[in-house]
Amino acid sequence: MEVIDSPELARKYVTSLRSQGRTVGFVPTMGALHDGHLSLVEAARSCDFTVASIFVNPTQFGPNEDLETYPRTLQSDLESLEQCGVSAVFAPTAETMYPKGFSTYVSAPKIGDTLEGVCRPGHFRGVVTVVLKLFQALPVTHAYFGKKDYQQWRVIEAMTRDLSLGTEIIGCETVRESDGLAMSSRNQYLSQEERQRALLLSQSLAEVEKAYHAGERCVESLQHQMHSILTGQPVSADSHTETPLPSMGLDSVDYATIVAAQDLTPMESIDRPAVALIAGNVGTTRLIDNRELRPL
Ligand code: AMP
Repeated sequence: MEVIDSPELARKYVTSLRSQGRTVGFVPTMGALHDGHLSLVEAARSCDFTVASIFVNPTQFGPNEDLETYPRTLQSDLESLEQCGVSAVFAPTAETMYPKGFSTYVSAPKIGDTLEGVCRPGHFRGVVTVVLKLFQALPVTHAYFGKKDYQQWRVIEAMTRDLSLGTEIIGCETVRESDGLAMSSRNQYLSQEERQRALLLSQSLAEVEKAYHAGERCVESLQHQMHSILTGQPVSADSHTETPLPSMGLDSVDYATIVAAQDLTPMESIDRPAVALIAGNVGTTRLIDNRELRPL
């Protein structure tokens, strides 16, 4: 497996494969790899060659976010990628990606204006800028993104379409721990007690999905149900006999909402494919999760 740190060499590597008519699948990551990342690599292996990148992108972190403490495990990440059959890894430094005097950014598409775009101002600008730069260094045929970061996937689809990049964007299903928690590099920040409360995200999504499949289509009532579970006050038939335990909820909920799956616009009733999206804090760790709601 080749480990490349210069955009010029990365470009040569991919261009040479493309000139031989090969398809190249790409998995961009920030490292600290887990099985979620590796599932994207597995999907990318349907291409003739698979490349990955490891880069903790400073421009997508806000001033009070975890850029400094973000886990960095380069050696073991490289070993995992090699074992998974990746041909080359692009692992540039921040100085290479953002040389002195760097000042050109891509503005994020409209679909990035809501949800994460509101909670993390500038986040998607950083994401689309780095993804465009990665696509320049690695002019691949296919790129694989996790639906775990649902809005990010939609933002990148939109950017790729709007800027006519010609790369096929593939969204891959979220990989979860056996108890339902969506895998994330940030899960390692959680204490044991927080790890328990973090389950409320996947649990509330599972409840909403259950209600949806039982026939509930009213977005307001489904959202209400999600909020109740996330704040530790589940509404159940015998709830009057239970003492609510507010301390068992998340520490804050940024949003728990249901929107149209295609364009993330609000809806009152689920009359087309939808997605339930949650973001919130457990302790100081911000977690996100989501679930698509569509007929079986
Ligand atoms: P990150 O390293 O967090 O920037 O993630 C790199 C890619 O892996 C993104 O496309 C994420 O959406 C995807 N990813 C992260 N966690 C998961 C997961 N649990 N299941 C599937 N994909 C994931």
